[in-house]
Amino acid sequence: MRVLIAEDDAIPRMILKIAVEKFGHECLVAEDGAQAWDMYQTASVNVVISDRVMPGMDGVELCKRIRAAFKPGYTYFIFLSALGEREEALAGLQAGADDYLAKPFDPDDLRARLLVAARVTELHRQLHEQQVELRRLNKELFEQGRRDPLTQLSNRLRLKEDLVLLIGQAERYAKRYCAVMCDVDNFKSYNDFYGHLAGDEILRVLAQTLAKGCREGDAAYRYGGEEFLLILPEQTAENAAIAAERFRKSIEALALPHQSKSPPGVITISAGVATLEPCDYEATHLWIKRADDAMYRAKQDGRNCVRVAGA
Ligand code: GH3
Ligand code: MG
Ligand code: MG
Ligand code: MG
Repeated sequence: MRVLIAEDDAIPRMILKIAVEKFGHECLVAEDGAQAWDMYQTASVNVVISDRVMPGMDGVELCKRIRAAFKPGYTYFIFLSALGEREEALAGLQAGADDYLAKPFDPDDLRARLLVAARVTELHRQLHEQQVELRRLNKELFEQGRRDPLTQLSNRLRLKEDLVLLIGQAERYAKRYCAVMCDVDNFKSYNDFYGHLAGDEILRVLAQTLAKGCREGDAAYRYGGEEFLLILPEQTAENAAIAAERFRKSIEALALPHQSKSPPGVITISAGVATLEPCDYEATHLWIKRADDAMYRAKQDGRNCVRVAGA
């Protein structure tokens, strides 16, 4: 361990240093509280052994500062208190110290204190490591729970959370948003013809293509089985329709064969566009439903096209 000694008396300071080093620890020495505080801030320290009465900053103030400092790892704090001064020892513990050592000190006492200090700081280290690992796992779980495992796009849970934020923005700053609901055309027959695994691969490729086509601020979600929802900020319905058309074309341009279509052709999507209206603020599903309805109109109009709600 690295032990910082704060003691204004030269003789006990030297005796302590020799003893601490004899027990196998590295030692830093400070001649008063202020110097100890400076050293503590710049060096990594496991244990502080501090006198109580020192000129300038005393041991109690030093202890309080160390307890309030945001430094990684736990600092075990031992007060030096005059032999028999129980009140003094108690005041030190109340200020945040872990233990006290009677002065003049007995080497066996010091050794015992340092053994406990090593155990306690090690426990704190392990606890900290576990906390870091738990936090990492929590974050990973949080992300995992909001990502679709097949396509790696955001899932419905993330959409639900994002919609709450988005509605808030729309209400507060009168921001405009457009939803584009995309659905793969004749996908059931694709699965029937090529098999489900090949269908899965198509969904992955389509998701990638849509995500790649997104501009800064756009978001792509896997809404359902073969449905993808795009949320485009600050768009008029006209601009969103142009963007949806760009997405539709990018999928068609992949030229992924779809033999079981009549006539045989390539994988395509139909898309419906709807702008977020103030009347939807209370019920976002109405907004998404208008995009969905527009998408069904695209299906009725022969698929592989874009339709805009209300147009
Ligand atoms: P339409 O053009 O009218 O949308 O026809 P469709 O065949 O695409 O529509 P339908 O709703 O009848 O079929 C959707 C298909 O999507 C059926 C289902 O098996 C398939 N599907 C949904 N999720 C997945 C998935 O995760 N993997 C695969 N391979 N297929 C999926
Ligand atoms: Mg002193
Ligand atoms: Mg569908
Ligand atoms: Mg479909």
